[in-house]
Amino acid sequence: MARYRKTLRRKKGGTTLATASRASAQPASRLPAVAGAAWPYASAPEAHELFLPAARYELFVGGRWTKPKSGRYFQTIDPSTEEPLTQVANAGAADVDAAVRAARTAYERYWRRCPGSTRAKYLYRIARSITERSRELAVLESLDTGKPIREARDFDIPLAAAHFFYYAGWADKLAWAFPGKTPSPLGIAGQVIPWNFPLLMAAWKIAPALACGNTVVLKPAETTPITALILAEIIQQADLPDGVVNIITGGPDTGQSLVTHPGVDKIAFTGSTEVGKAIARECARLRRPVTLELGGKAANIIFDDAPIDQAVEGIINGIFFNQGHVCCAGSRLLVQEPVLETVVQKLDQRMQTLRIGPPLDKNTDIGAINSKAQLQKIRELVRSGDDAGRPRYETRCDLPDRGYWFRPTFFTNVALSDRIAREEIFGPVLSVMSFRTPDEAVDKANNTPYGLSAGVWSDKGSKNFKVTAQLQAGVVWANTFNKFDPSSPFGGYKESGFGREGGVHGLAPYLQR
Ligand code: NAD
Repeated sequence: MARYRKTLRRKKGGTTLATASRASAQPASRLPAVAGAAWPYASAPEAHELFLPAARYELFVGGRWTKPKSGRYFQTIDPSTEEPLTQVANAGAADVDAAVRAARTAYERYWRRCPGSTRAKYLYRIARSITERSRELAVLESLDTGKPIREARDFDIPLAAAHFFYYAGWADKLAWAFPGKTPSPLGIAGQVIPWNFPLLMAAWKIAPALACGNTVVLKPAETTPITALILAEIIQQADLPDGVVNIITGGPDTGQSLVTHPGVDKIAFTGSTEVGKAIARECARLRRPVTLELGGKAANIIFDDAPIDQAVEGIINGIFFNQGHVCCAGSRLLVQEPVLETVVQKLDQRMQTLRIGPPLDKNTDIGAINSKAQLQKIRELVRSGDDAGRPRYETRCDLPDRGYWFRPTFFTNVALSDRIAREEIFGPVLSVMSFRTPDEAVDKANNTPYGLSAGVWSDKGSKNFKVTAQLQAGVVWANTFNKFDPSSPFGGYKESGFGREGGVHGLAPYLQR
C-alpha cells in the first residue's frame, strides 16, 4: 500500500484523477482500446437484424393493441448510440382507466373463477414462449437498456422464463402454500417497474399475481418499455383471456394515475426510494395494500481469511454487473485491514481487464448507462468523492464517442459520512472502507438507511453464519454475490422497502388469507 500511497502523493493536484495506481499513471491516449486485456479481441456482434424493434408500439389493453386516447407518443433511444429506437404510446388518465376496467372485467368474468390448474397452463405457455423467443428478447433488452447481450441472454431472459415456470407450479397448490387458510385473490394488481431489468421485473410482478388469480395492469419504465410490449405479444399468442394482463406505457404521470386509480386493489412497485415513499403515502391514504422494492447500498465484507481471488471476482460481479444498475449491487466494500492492500491491488488489476463497449458485442463486459439523467447523477456523486479527496481508481480504456458511458470506478479511504458511502449511485462505482473486527464490520455494514442485500467472504463457515445473522438486509450472500432463483424470496429492510417477491413468500402479497 505504501507504494500506492506514494504514487498518489506525487499525483496530487495533477489533472488525471485515474492515477491512483502505478499502472493507472499512464495517460489514457497511450493505452490500447482494451486496456489490461492479454490480447486484443475482434468484435463479435450478436446478429440482430431480424430483431429490430417495431417503428411504433401501442397500448395493450383488453387483449388488443389500442391507440392512446391522449394521442401522444414518446421516443425511446438506444443509450449506447443515442440513436432513436422506437415510438411508444404515452398513456393518459383515460387510458389507465380503460386498462383498469379491462382488468376488472377479466377478473370478474373469468380469471377469479378459473381453476388453478388452468391458470398454470397459461403461465407454462408464457414461460415456454419466452424461452422460444429468448434470442429476440435478449437483443431487444440489450438495445433498450444498454446492458451487454451476454447478461440479457444468460441472466435476464432465462430468469424471467424461470419465474413463470416457478409460479405456474404454485397456481393449483395455493392451499398447500398456506396450510389451514383458504387463500383468495385480491383483484386488480397495479404494477410499476424500473428500467434496470425490464423483462425480469415484469415477470417478478406478473407471474405471482396471475398464479394467485389476480388480473394485472403493468407500467414499464419510460426508457425501457420494449420487452414488456413483446411480453404482451407473447401473452396474446398464449391466448390468455382478454384483459387478464394489460400493459400501458408512459412516464411518472401514468404511474401515478395507476397507483391512485380507485379500481385498483393492490399496488406493487419497484423503483427508487423517493418515489416508493410517495407511493406508500398514497396507498396509506387509500388504504390499499402495497409492496415496495426500493433502493440499496449493499456492503460486501471481506475478512482476512477469505479466498481473495474468488472474493475479488465476486466484488467485480457485485458492483459492475449491469453497469451497477442493480438495486442490490455491492456498492460498499468493507475489507479487513491485513488484506486491504492486496484486495485493492487485485481489484484494480481485474478492473483493468473489463471490456467496455457496444452492448451487442458478445465480448462486452460493461455496456452503456441507461440514460443521460442517470449518467449525470453518477457523475455528480463521483465528483462528491473527488471533492472529499478520496483516491479514485478507474479503467483506462477508450470509450465510444457517442452514447452514455461511465468507466468502472472505485474510491478508497472512504468515510461512512461521505455521500458516495451513503447515497445509492446506481452506477459502476464502488466505495472501499476498512475494518478491524467483525463487530466493526457489522456496525459499518448496517450504518445505512437501506437494507436490501449484503455479502460476506470468509473461509470459516461459523464466521459467515454469525456475521450474516447480524446484517440488516433482505438477502445476504456468503462467498458469492448476485445469485438469484425464483424459489428464493427477495426484498428489503428499512428504506429498501417491504414485502417479498420470489418464492412462496412472493405469493402472500397477492392473496387474502
Ligand atoms: P423511479 O422510481 O424513478 O421509477 C420507477 C418507475 O416508477 C418508472 O416506471 C417510473 O415511470 C415510475 N414512476 C416515477 N414516478 C412515479 C410516481 N410518482 N408514481 C408512480 N410511478 C412513478 O426509479 P428508476 O430510476 O426507474 O429505477 C431505479 C431505482 O429502482 C433505483 O433506486 C433502484 O435501486 C430501484 N430498484 C429496486 C429494485 C428492488 O428490487 N429493490 C429493483 C430494481 C430497481
